[in-house]
Amino acid sequence: MKITAVETEIEEKPVKHQFVWRKGLPGSGTHAITTKLTIKTDEGVDGVAYASRGTIMVDLVNRRLRDMLIGQDPLLKEHLWHEVWEIDRIEELPIYALGVVDIALWDLTAKVAGLPLYKVIGGARDRIPAYASTVTFKDTAEFLDVADQCLDYGFRAIKLHAWGDPKKDARLGQDLRHHVGPDIELMYDGSAGFDLLDSIYVGWALHEAGFLWYEEPMREFNIDAYRRLAAAVDIPLLSAETSDGAHYNIADFIRFDAAHLVRTSTGFKGGVTGGLRVAHLAEAFNMRAEVHGGGLPNLHLACAIPNTTYYESLIRSNPIDVEPGIGNDGAISPPDVPGIGWETELSQCH
Ligand SMILES: [Mg+2]
Repeated sequence: MKITAVETEIEEKPVKHQFVWRKGLPGSGTHAITTKLTIKTDEGVDGVAYASRGTIMVDLVNRRLRDMLIGQDPLLKEHLWHEVWEIDRIEELPIYALGVVDIALWDLTAKVAGLPLYKVIGGARDRIPAYASTVTFKDTAEFLDVADQCLDYGFRAIKLHAWGDPKKDARLGQDLRHHVGPDIELMYDGSAGFDLLDSIYVGWALHEAGFLWYEEPMREFNIDAYRRLAAAVDIPLLSAETSDGAHYNIADFIRFDAAHLVRTSTGFKGGVTGGLRVAHLAEAFNMRAEVHGGGLPNLHLACAIPNTTYYESLIRSNPIDVEPGIGNDGAISPPDVPGIGWETELSQCH
């Protein structure tokens, strides 16, 4: 089998629910821009992936990726994964661009196998609990209202993206725990809004409130700052969501005691191949690799690996508008069709 064409198509549409993140971070904006990447072959089977960016992805395909891919065997994914790393050495690819080719190649591979992707790459389970991952709402009352709606729907775990104010965020975590009681799992995502001192303060508050994990309170450039934080608080740290270098970088977070759980994803860790590497590396240390972000490739990854807990489902609005596929048991299954299942209604999952 040989790759015969690599096509891109930009799609722009209005955002259904505009939302904001913590103070300082850009929010959803008004329009979502996506690039569809299609890899075609001489045997008629093709692979598809989506990048949540526009012209920058098209430019990379036009200048680098298409020439590298044409004429290659699409099933030699390890080889092609390393070829993309070589392009990364020259281009310093955006982290979200690193895995797009790999995801399309795995879609193609699973179609050739006639199996859903998660059964090709691992098959740890066919259904996984989802957590409600909030955007940033206006005030505590609105967060508690949204939490009630999520629990009524069937979610059993909630993660906060709050305001990025250490005192207010700490109080929100404690108020939410008081509101939902002891049996709901709670997590907090700092989206890198703090320095070390504020991270320690929030970490202790979340520990007192019995949170399951404390995610990315600082930018992930400096591993030593995470090591110091891990030594200073008792709450489990979930680290390395946005750090560059996939498993090469995660190895250092683990080696230097800068994480209790690590982030993996198809989006930021080099596609399916990189996401699996991170998960398997973590498993060797009896650590969980929690899958960052929603969408079908991440859902397949989460169902493929044993050492993860949840699928991340973004709650973008109040009233809540739960993505397709999440049942009233708060869980979700990948599409039971060959490949990733882009043609199913679950392709609308976030
Ligand atoms: Mg996060």
